[in-house]
Amino acid sequence: MKFEKVGNRGLLFSFDDPYLTNVYVILGNDYVFVLDTFLGNDSMNLVLSKIAEEGYAGKPIVVFNSHADYDHYWGNGAFKNAMIIGHEHCKERVLAEGEASLVKYADHQRGEIELIPPNRTFQETLRFEDEGVKFFHSPGHTLDSASCYDMVDKVLFVGDNVESPFPYLNHVNFDQYIRTLKSYLKVDWKYIVAGHDPLMKKPDLIKRNIDYLQKFKDWKLDLDSMSTQELHRHVDHNLSAIKEELMKSDQKESLLKHLKELEKYIS
Ligand SMILES: [Zn+2]
Repeated sequence: MKFEKVGNRGLLFSFDDPYLTNVYVILGNDYVFVLDTFLGNDSMNLVLSKIAEEGYAGKPIVVFNSHADYDHYWGNGAFKNAMIIGHEHCKERVLAEGEASLVKYADHQRGEIELIPPNRTFQETLRFEDEGVKFFHSPGHTLDSASCYDMVDKVLFVGDNVESPFPYLNHVNFDQYIRTLKSYLKVDWKYIVAGHDPLMKKPDLIKRNIDYLQKFKDWKLDLDSMSTQELHRHVDHNLSAIKEELMKSDQKESLLKHLKELEKYIS
């Protein structure tokens, strides 16, 4: 696990086992905000010790889940009695999909896991005015995806909406997703913390993600220019996740043409 301080009051924890995942902590005046809780109580106990080391032991903790993919909330159980914030759909997804995720990703478990859904949900935004912290719905990677903006340190926490080389798609929601990413570009941030990438100070990856989504939507992707990793993400994850939905839409013909084109790139 790598640890670094960000701005005046931010702690960034970058776990690397089983894959790079960020947890971000804001040391507020009255609360300590823990953004995402990774894969179980072991990982979160490390975060709790660091918070104590910084002199914040005993401050009420507010947990935030950026969305209900297992790697962002399995550690909620380490924060007994805490307020846990998430979009209302995030709570629904934890309740509906939590048990199955424990089975499917059993080997990713790090310590005890108690499946605890958000207990303070919101639809559009939730603000802690005195703390300069805002949570807001930002659908894209998933429909329940939400983000957090620390207006004191100008840090924007975006969950898995921004990811290299391409974001993971789960729905045919290109326009909505692009809107969310463009809205990030309008926020006055110094740092972007994404779920699975190193700390960012430039908007390049957001722009590349927008470009991918726009070209995918318009069936104008340049397959020749894609790396093996990009092709893998595009074909094995994104196309396979939304193929069925596209087949039922008016995009069926374009999809079939695209799949035909892809044949020479994948064996
Ligand atoms: Zn993730």
